[in-house]
Amino acid sequence: MTSSDIIDNYSRQINAINDQIRKSPPMGKVASYIPGLDRVPPDLFGMTLMTLDETVISAGDSKTPFSLQSISKVFSLTLALKAVDEELWDRVGVEPSGNAFNSLIQLELEKGKPRNPFINAGALVICDVLISAYDQPKQKLLEFVRFLVCSDELSYNQSIAESEKKSSYRNAALINLMKDFNNIKNPTDRVLDLYCYLCSLEMNCESLAHTFLFLANQGIHPSSNEQVITPSQTKRINAIMQLCGFYDEAGEFAYRVGLPGKSGVGGGIIAIKPCQYAIAVLSPRLNKRGNSYQGIHALELFTSSTASSIF
Ligand code: GLN
Repeated sequence: MTSSDIIDNYSRQINAINDQIRKSPPMGKVASYIPGLDRVPPDLFGMTLMTLDETVISAGDSKTPFSLQSISKVFSLTLALKAVDEELWDRVGVEPSGNAFNSLIQLELEKGKPRNPFINAGALVICDVLISAYDQPKQKLLEFVRFLVCSDELSYNQSIAESEKKSSYRNAALINLMKDFNNIKNPTDRVLDLYCYLCSLEMNCESLAHTFLFLANQGIHPSSNEQVITPSQTKRINAIMQLCGFYDEAGEFAYRVGLPGKSGVGGGIIAIKPCQYAIAVLSPRLNKRGNSYQGIHALELFTSSTASSIF
């Protein structure tokens, strides 16, 4: 197949998946535990694939912005690796948790060292690392993601961030528990503030696919050719996405879709095929594990019909 045949095939498949998902009965529920997320129209569906040469293939609501939530934890991990590199692993592990993203149980048993950077406990430690490393971590993070997406329009959603902060008893408990084990250095409210703003970042499927392309490209930002992180750091992030990106459903995602990826309770999923593409999906109804029900289904249909899983 020539590269234009490949693009035509991707485009046909994405349009067919959009038609199929829109005809299927609604499954799952929109996240309601963060005030504001429950107002999202539940039956949005959008999908964008972007290749390394920045060819964009989209269908459905691919231009509708949504709350990234845990997808943003990949940006904070990238920035933390740039700041402290391998030292990070003294404070957070790289093993799948097999537990819910906001669980406290394992953290107590494992003496305050989170299993990985994508469960909430791990992302909170990463926020603590960023606060220690940068004078204005919130601004630094925003500038970094704006650079990746090549747009200054991207912003935090202040009302989602503030409403999550007010109802974040569990995240506050995780921070305090880790503080007791000396794995959080900064004040609890500063860590919680950065975490909730990180999760509140908003963008659409087209921008999301664009921001993740560097992870499909050995750490090089395709638009500027800048080396964002080393190929070795890129390998590590992709490996952690593969093993931990979907919490207690990571095995199921690897089995059905077969790409490194990350989900968020805003209903988004991003996945990458190394050296080929990044693919983003939005479908806000979630399954019981907090992952987009139809988002997983759509990606399974895509990698099956194009034979493009990594396995
Ligand atoms: N902000 C959300 C939380 O802390 C993120 C969870 C997610 O997207 N899985 O609960």
